[in-house]
Amino acid sequence: MLWASMLELLLPRTLLLCLLAFPLPSYPKSMLGEREFLHLSAPAISTLVSSPDPLKQLDPKDPSSHLSHILIPRVPDTENNTRVRDYIVSRLETLKWHVDQDAFDDDDTPFGKKHFTNIVATKDPKASRRVIIAAHFDSKYFPEPNHFVGAIDSAASCAIMLDLAEALNPLLNERASRLEAGMEEDEDVSDTTLQLVFFDGEEAFVEWIGNDNTYGARHLAEKWATTYILPHSKRRLMGPQATEISGIEHLILLDLLGAENPLIRSYTLNTAWLFDALVSAEKRLGDTGAFAYGSEQSMAAGQWSSFFYKRTTTDMNLGGVGDDHVPFMERGVDVLHLITVPFPAVWHTPHDDASALHMPTMRRWNILFRVFMSEYLNLQPGEKKSRLDDPSTVVERSDSDLQ
Ligand SMILES: [Zn+2]
Repeated sequence: MLWASMLELLLPRTLLLCLLAFPLPSYPKSMLGEREFLHLSAPAISTLVSSPDPLKQLDPKDPSSHLSHILIPRVPDTENNTRVRDYIVSRLETLKWHVDQDAFDDDDTPFGKKHFTNIVATKDPKASRRVIIAAHFDSKYFPEPNHFVGAIDSAASCAIMLDLAEALNPLLNERASRLEAGMEEDEDVSDTTLQLVFFDGEEAFVEWIGNDNTYGARHLAEKWATTYILPHSKRRLMGPQATEISGIEHLILLDLLGAENPLIRSYTLNTAWLFDALVSAEKRLGDTGAFAYGSEQSMAAGQWSSFFYKRTTTDMNLGGVGDDHVPFMERGVDVLHLITVPFPAVWHTPHDDASALHMPTMRRWNILFRVFMSEYLNLQPGEKKSRLDDPSTVVERSDSDLQ
């Protein structure tokens, strides 16, 4: 039995937070190392954060927003869960992403057999590697009348993911055209696509012990670890025994985001550099005043504070918080777990509704992920990139170049 599971037998999820200083067991090492991201230029960032409107789809007051479509009770194996799933699938199919619905039954729940469906949406299903952004779309079960809508847990993250797909989709298309024309210079990422995974059944039906949690993630990790990939020209870098799980570069898991003043830490040394790249994007955005929103000036340049704990050179692998990443981490996948600790006070209470969400914080997450994932995937929003650490490579552009 695994370390995390043993702890979860003994302790509820909240108490796991007390154990952050304990080292992780030695999971299999990934093959991928650190790499340097090209920084977007200031005009490129400005283009990216302003369009599409980074708040429109996250507005719970607008019934047509992504968030409003998700913000209903959506317990696994219910009509509402299907309704939310259909909405997410329809949005991604509209973008012409490849969408798989990973449906299965699990007999081993406290309420007997339940039906679950994960959503897996891939920009380019032929790519040899993929970076995954994931969150769970189910909401926690409470006895009827159940009004729990899980705004931070994790409707907000799901809405952010849909917005990210829409914001990056044209840029991913442009990158594909550059690749086809032999104009893509960054070999590191040319075979990497973006995949979004919406897990079902993250929540415990009764209590977060044993197997009463992460139903969808456990199923998908097991399935991908035993699904062998057919040879394909674009998969030339992979060996003959490659499985679906071995094509994952990183799993970036979002959870409990959307409330004011989150604090996120880096849990594993092998993704500390990726955590640092995210913090770097945050710093560059914050210092240019991109986080200031309307009358909310507490995030203005010079006043904002980071969403992330500072890392130190003495960092070690820290124990984690049980979540959907665990079945993947156990199989050697590199994980960046973006979860706020301590959990927001509204966690698993009726107050985790629209009122728990802080719009300037939601907007900030949205633009941060746009910039971070553009830099990860070498996307070029309206401007050429330059290495900020080498001013000689900065290309001066005229206004006409931006059109
Ligand atoms: Zn929860």
